[in-house]
Amino acid sequence: MSFQRMKNVSGSHKEGFTRVFLIGAGKGGKAVLTRLLRFNWVQIVGVSDLNEQAPGILLAQEAGLPVFIGDPLQFLQGLDVDLTFDLTGDHLMHTRLLNLPSRSFDVVTGAVSYLLWSVIQELEEQEIQLRAHLGEHRVLLEINQMLSRSETSEQIFEAIVMGGIRMTGMPAGSLSIFDKEKQQLFLVAAKGFSSEFFKNPVYSVRPGGLTEHILSRNEPVLIPNIAEFPSFNNPVLLKEGIRSLIAVPLLSEKGPVGILYNDDFKSRTFTSSMLEVLRRLATLAVIAIQKQQALEEIKSLSIRDPLTAMYNRRYLSEILAAEMDRAFRLHRPLSLLLIDIDHFKAVNDRYGHVVGDQVLHGLAKLFALIIRPYDTIARYGGEEFILLMSETDAEEALAVAERLREATASEKLLPEEAVLTCSFGIGMLKPDETRLPTPEELIQRADKALYEAKRAGRNRVHVFRDDSAASPSRTENN
Ligand code: GH3
Ligand code: MG
Ligand code: MG
Repeated sequence: MSFQRMKNVSGSHKEGFTRVFLIGAGKGGKAVLTRLLRFNWVQIVGVSDLNEQAPGILLAQEAGLPVFIGDPLQFLQGLDVDLTFDLTGDHLMHTRLLNLPSRSFDVVTGAVSYLLWSVIQELEEQEIQLRAHLGEHRVLLEINQMLSRSETSEQIFEAIVMGGIRMTGMPAGSLSIFDKEKQQLFLVAAKGFSSEFFKNPVYSVRPGGLTEHILSRNEPVLIPNIAEFPSFNNPVLLKEGIRSLIAVPLLSEKGPVGILYNDDFKSRTFTSSMLEVLRRLATLAVIAIQKQQALEEIKSLSIRDPLTAMYNRRYLSEILAAEMDRAFRLHRPLSLLLIDIDHFKAVNDRYGHVVGDQVLHGLAKLFALIIRPYDTIARYGGEEFILLMSETDAEEALAVAERLREATASEKLLPEEAVLTCSFGIGMLKPDETRLPTPEELIQRADKALYEAKRAGRNRVHVFRDDSAASPSRTENN
């Protein structure tokens, strides 16, 4: 507080103080007093009111100022005062003050004091708004820090949803990412909902539907009360008991990135400042999502083979060591399938390298369709591939390999009527393994089985056997 109390009241002018007496310590008086206390050139010599519990009296007492309960004119006589503020709004007080005989101080009263009070009120409202803005700004800053600290997509998505919840004060929210090619949205994060909410994480953008409407706008879409929105018929949200929501489209210069939903279980109104803050949150969210997507693209370039888009050998070796370690520790089965194209040299010789490359590309696409989503396939060498299957014993691995073998032989991958085939060798890590083999050892097991498959006539699957004689598989090339 900048207010300074003077020890000696007399001769105050010389010291640069204006001595002020305040009459009327209600709401207006308190507001004026609060302001005056900030000026270090003002000395409050007294605050008076008829009510000793008036808010301005309490404030004056708190600040250690002299207070006077009763008729102020009676106190004013004995004080050295330069200026008196009358905030009673009382006509009689106004007249009495102005007509005070031998008055030696200035008076702010009547319409002037009303005007003063109005100006102060306005200032206070602005201050409240400013403080709210600063608060919002701080929260946005915190969200931005949280976003930049996030390393994975999941962390970023969650930070965005939490940001929406914090900024709106709404109890639930979710984030969906838009896939332009598929014209679908993928639910990637949600807070405040039941586990049922995640059951259907993919939904299509229906022409003319609400989602299309949200994505086509540059503004948040407000639904203060879904009962007044008959077109709102999202069964999942209705089941969750959502009554109101704000949908914030996340748009980049290249098009829609996703939608951030903020939801409440009761109907409510939305303020324009809330929308403003959400717009800013949307900007932060779009930048964070795009940055993450770019990082993932770069990472994908470094771990994938450009011709086949399969994982490369370097990435495989990382995954392989970790997966083997895990399987060994938890006594779980793991199978590794080594695949080699039959007579690929002849394909190159006959049709040229360009066709050879096309065959590799086509084969990779075919394999991608067949393998299970949780298995990892990599290009191990020129025309050799490795399929890593966790939680998979030899029998299951054989079934997968067989599906790949049949699909390859029946797919038209070569020009003319030529048929492309592959040979397959399976190496396993058994649950009862006493020592963890190295990744190279596991690949050698598969390679041994593959060698046997080649030797037995190609276009077949062999499983590694411990006695170093690979067993003939059940699959034969007619
Ligand atoms: P086998 O049935 O015994 O496997 O016979 P193969 O002819 O496939 O023999 P091998 O596996 O030793 O030969 C691999 C051939 O694959 C040699 C090489 O020219 C060709 N190759 C390797 N990488 C590529 C590639 O990226 N593109 C093309 N077009 N050919 C490749
Ligand atoms: Mg080979
Ligand atoms: Mg080969």
